[in-house]
Amino acid sequence: MLLTFTDDSAFTVTVQMYGGIWAYPERANHNPYYIEAKSKPHPLSDDFSMKYFQTLYRTTKPTSSLKAFLATEQRIPGLGNGVLQDILFQAHLHPKTKLQGLTEIQRNNLYWSIKNTLLQMAQQGGRNTEKDLFGANGGYHTILSNKTWQKPCPVCGGEIIRQTYLGGNIYFCPHCQPPA
Ligand SMILES: [Zn+2]
Repeated sequence: MLLTFTDDSAFTVTVQMYGGIWAYPERANHNPYYIEAKSKPHPLSDDFSMKYFQTLYRTTKPTSSLKAFLATEQRIPGLGNGVLQDILFQAHLHPKTKLQGLTEIQRNNLYWSIKNTLLQMAQQGGRNTEKDLFGANGGYHTILSNKTWQKPCPVCGGEIIRQTYLGGNIYFCPHCQPPA
């Protein structure tokens, strides 16, 4: 979808795999996913604080895996499978590790990896696996994605593993992100 405005600005939306595009007058959309997403802080905002993150953590089932915690049920709107891989790689955490298996230091590392990884992606114009309005790839070079997974791990040189898990591929280095 491409909307162009009289001031030469534009808004574009593309859908891959599945999705929907809707336009509503303000406050007329009562879709529960939309309302939930609007009510929660953006991960890069100050409201997404360590305290808020700890609340999310405490109110999620301890047997949930890290992928389920971060990227399902609109717990953190906007944080999906695509950005999840590098967040967990930078935190040295395996996507299938359960919340209850994390130490306090690992929880802190995870929080800061969410902030830092998403900030880098935003500042560099998105991931290089995605395209902008002009068909140009984003400037953020993904560490783990379908573009990189057949290359060696940039830290240890080991093999990157790709598996399907909870609706989508996960990528990880079993040496740098050992399962807990
Ligand atoms: Zn590695």
